[in-house]
Amino acid sequence: MNLLSALRRGPWSARLLWLAAGVVLGLGLAAALVALSWGWPRLVGPGPALPEAQVARLEALGRQALETEDIPVAALLVYRGEVIGAGHNTVRAHHDAGGHAEIQAISEALRRYGEPEFFKLERGEMELITTFEPCPMCQGAIAMYGIGKVTYLGSKPLGRHLELEQARLRYLWTRRWVRPEDLQQRLFELHPSWPKGAKAP
Ligand SMILES: [Zn+2]
Repeated sequence: MNLLSALRRGPWSARLLWLAAGVVLGLGLAAALVALSWGWPRLVGPGPALPEAQVARLEALGRQALETEDIPVAALLVYRGEVIGAGHNTVRAHHDAGGHAEIQAISEALRRYGEPEFFKLERGEMELITTFEPCPMCQGAIAMYGIGKVTYLGSKPLGRHLELEQARLRYLWTRRWVRPEDLQQRLFELHPSWPKGAKAP
């Protein structure tokens, strides 16, 4: 007897039991999928070694973070083989919530090119190299700036990934939408380059 025919033909108690089993199975599969998507790199293990020059640069940057007792994480943004941005963690040094190494490296490239020119670069050719697997904030920056490839050295434990996914789900389920909802649209429209009548990006 399969699940669908049991749901159609069985007595109510049996139908509910099968339904509950289906829900538990579905949730289990979803949890396994999330765990697998975060955990698969450790199933295959790390790939080849980074070039020595990049390792040395990352180590020097990481050591700079230690001078201010910041968490020693370092990152490089590489474009067609050239380092266009570099950074280390400065959260403590600059009291900067966004001061993670990856965001610092992207920011340095933005300062170097200027925002419009940066966005003209071929993003698929950009590689962010970081000493520690990016957190959700940096993953967000990687998505927002369209960085094509991410390479990391130290990996986060699977448990930490799942904890952070739980925080992301909490955000999705606890956010509130309030009025006046047109304030942001009015602000967008005050920008000199805002196309008339355009909706939020
Ligand atoms: Zn981060």
